[in-house]
Amino acid sequence: MKYIRKTTEPEVLANFKAQANEDWQPNYELLRGEDKKQFHQHLITEQGHICCYCGERIVRTDSHIEHFQPQTEYPHLELDYFNLLASCQQKIQPKEPRHCGMGKGDWFDDRLLVSPLIADCGEFFEYTVDGQILPTREPEKAERATETIERLSLNIRKLQATRASAIEGIYGEELELILSEDEIDKLIHYYSQTDNEGYYQPYCQTILYMLNQEKMDRFK
Ligand SMILES: [Zn+2]
Repeated sequence: MKYIRKTTEPEVLANFKAQANEDWQPNYELLRGEDKKQFHQHLITEQGHICCYCGERIVRTDSHIEHFQPQTEYPHLELDYFNLLASCQQKIQPKEPRHCGMGKGDWFDDRLLVSPLIADCGEFFEYTVDGQILPTREPEKAERATETIERLSLNIRKLQATRASAIEGIYGEELELILSEDEIDKLIHYYSQTDNEGYYQPYCQTILYMLNQEKMDRFK
């Protein structure tokens, strides 16, 4: 999970809400057409074009606008910019497993769900070279991490496999990283930032975890 830095509400959403009058109250259902597309794209761009939970590459047509605090229980937040994220999956295919926002559904527990809007959200999770996501061993964070992985189905085989191939992309098929400390630092720098077009690399948080572990194991 990668920290998402929210800034200010984009104009498209502010303008939509500003149309409210005595006879017409905006709600999420009414956000449609170009306004919705534009806002959805704004969220994707803000996140560096990766899913707010798993970190895979997303575009508008294969992702959805995610209510962090679900509409069912928090209707007053359904158009709150700070409650809206972009998560992977849109139209679920038959037999396609649900995960991330689609897996979470209407579940929300402030104490047990790790939020991508908190700066240290990445510290709740560990990864293995075969693509698994595991809760951190830090006792005060472990329960929350475990529940989040479970509720969002972050450790399903499909996501393990895509994470594994992202890791393989830098480790090679032998899953061995033969790099100097300097070269690892360069990779860490590369995966920590968006490219010139504002794109994070898919699963950059996973890869950063692996690289930092490698550094600690070999050079500290
Ligand atoms: Zn996802």
